[in-house]
Amino acid sequence: MARIGITGAGIIGCAAAVQLIERGHDVTVFEKDIAGLPASVGNAGILAVPEIDPLARPDMLFSAPKWLADPLGPLTLRWQDLPALAPWLLAFLMAARPVQVKRSREALLGLMRDALEAHEGLAATAGIAGHMKKSGALTIFDSEAALNAAFAHEQKNAALLGHEVEKLGSAATRARVAALEGNFAGGIFSSGYQTFLDPLALLRSLQDFVRQRGRLVDAEVARVTQRADSVHIVTTDGESEPFDKVVIASGVWSRHLVRSLGLNVLLETERGYNTTFTDPAVTLELPVFFSEHGFVATPLKNALRVGGAVELAKPETPANFARAAAMRQKMRRYVPSLPESGGSEWMGRRPSTPDSIPVISLHPTDPRIAMAFGHGHLGLTLSAITGRSIVSLLEAGEQEHLAPFSIRRFQ
Ligand SMILES: Cc1cc2nc3c(=O)[nH]c(=O)nc-3n(C[C@H](O)[C@H](O)[C@H](O)COP(=O)(O)OP(=O)(O)OC[C@H]3O[C@@H](n4cnc5c(N)ncnc54)[C@H](O)[C@@H]3O)c2cc1C
Repeated sequence: MARIGITGAGIIGCAAAVQLIERGHDVTVFEKDIAGLPASVGNAGILAVPEIDPLARPDMLFSAPKWLADPLGPLTLRWQDLPALAPWLLAFLMAARPVQVKRSREALLGLMRDALEAHEGLAATAGIAGHMKKSGALTIFDSEAALNAAFAHEQKNAALLGHEVEKLGSAATRARVAALEGNFAGGIFSSGYQTFLDPLALLRSLQDFVRQRGRLVDAEVARVTQRADSVHIVTTDGESEPFDKVVIASGVWSRHLVRSLGLNVLLETERGYNTTFTDPAVTLELPVFFSEHGFVATPLKNALRVGGAVELAKPETPANFARAAAMRQKMRRYVPSLPESGGSEWMGRRPSTPDSIPVISLHPTDPRIAMAFGHGHLGLTLSAITGRSIVSLLEAGEQEHLAPFSIRRFQ
């Protein structure tokens, strides 16, 4: 049994905490914004097992100039933040090389194979049930060419992961989701997706488990310091607490803690926006991705959430909620019954690495310190398997199958 301190009570920190507590460790989680709504609660609520393709790819770079031309489109860059983002952007361009795309796909595939089973285990440990729905998901396409190209690719991914995909014409797509009315070529149904019906309730349940069986401390971590016999977590109010081991799991803010330990990391925010309609008059039978427009609509418990897209910006740059409005407007082309007002808008920060591979790693020279961040678009999906991997890193040391996720790649 070890005394373990964790920085950050988002979905990654909590998934690690719950599984470490289950193994008998004495766990304390520090959270700077206990009532906050980070990425871990405002996300689209989708277990996205089929998504093994990294974001940096040749086809993505090909589409980027068109997207960047529309300030409210699927991808935007806050140009005033360009100097701060430049090293990450450069590494992102390099990550689009076919050799790196292959490496990232293989790494993500390895995690995705166990992602669902890990979530089932996490829920059983935390005493949570009925929070996931075997919904599958639909992706709709405006053009036949895009539909056919995506279907060929999705079939390959489905064969690797063992789920089903179906290509549907527009009438068959409408038969699955009655509210879809607009003009589009068709869709792909994938059984590999599931829905977390209430991401906020899920996080709060995990936090409650930590409160009851460990400690959840309302404090901001200023730094992590290494001593001969312990690792200290030092908070901004000057408290310093010794631990046997420490896990850094603070989303994008992990970069400050990691850098203060003398390590390099490229971690920036891909910010996303959405609107949540509570008790909406219109709802969908399952999540619908509007992939050519970069957003998704998810039916949650008593709510419909519409959003997504990527805004590359510094974490602290003010939000631009016109992006949330633009996605609602686009969705009305397909679902005219979507209300024009009444939803609540949100902006969240995906903590992203340039190669789309999270950092799930021990400190290269101090195995008392583990790191779990950089899950980008997939942190909810990968939270349980990340927590399980952190348990095995802290208990058994470095492992070959986790080598692709090492922080060493940034040193
Ligand atoms: C619009 C959008 C849609 C998404 N949809 C999905 C989806 O459908 N499926 C999916 O799998 N993923 C999705 N994601 C991604 C997913 O939400 C994130 O990858 C995930 O939430 C990251 O979790 P995290 O715990 O690393 O970070 P966070 O959620 O950011 O949590 C980090 C926590 O650490 C705390 N913290 C930070 N610094 C300190 C400090 N110094 N001291 C103490 N506490 C600190 C923060 O307050 C925060 O609570 C989506 C993201 C967005 C933005």
